Amino acid sequence: MARIGIFGGSFDPIHNGHLVVMCEAVEILRLDRLLCVPAARSPFKPRGTTWSDAVRLDAVREAVAPHPSIHVDDCELRRPAPSYTIDTIRDVAERHPGDDLFLLLGADSLGEFPKWKDIAAIVAAVTIAVAVRPGHVIDRTALAETLPGIRMVELPTTPTGVSSTLVRSRIRAGLPLLGYVPESVARRLADATPSA
Ligand code: ATP
Repeated sequence: MARIGIFGGSFDPIHNGHLVVMCEAVEILRLDRLLCVPAARSPFKPRGTTWSDAVRLDAVREAVAPHPSIHVDDCELRRPAPSYTIDTIRDVAERHPGDDLFLLLGADSLGEFPKWKDIAAIVAAVTIAVAVRPGHVIDRTALAETLPGIRMVELPTTPTGVSSTLVRSRIRAGLPLLGYVPESVARRLADATPSA
């Protein structure tokens, strides 16, 4: 039985915080494979993304290329928006029958998590693996009360204060991206025009 991680997000753009979570989750959870799944559009981000699907996907591919356990899965970009995690989980479960599925989330996502579409089905299908994010607490007790039966592990990943919002504001201000995104991603973004 393989251990498969799923890490979804807007990746608008992907940054070093995402990479730390993914690389360390592979080690901590002993994942055989981690699927990095860029969303077409998150139901919680109705304004859409700054970068086009193609640019975000290219940047994600560039960023994970040096990491053999991390695979880019474009299933959400191939479905109409909005992108629902339950559809992705069902898709991955069909491709990986009998395998153990782990859904990776940053701690900031926990607030909205109980409102996700078909949350009971999500909780039944996967173990939730929550990565620390500066400024966000992980309240296991509250989550277990709201979502009885939830299987959850905390990931003691290295905290990083990087976010896509911060990267976008640095780009707008003409500031360097060294330390915020991999060099290959910085080059890809420099060649692209933001779509919004
Ligand atoms: P934005 O700033 O545009 O809201 P973001 O940086 O939060 O974006 P997303 O692509 O929305 O990035 O996030 C995808 C997943 O990665 C979410 O589960 C989020 O909580 C997690 N995540 C993003 N950045 C970090 C970080 N620095 N540390 C831990 N988790 C993170």
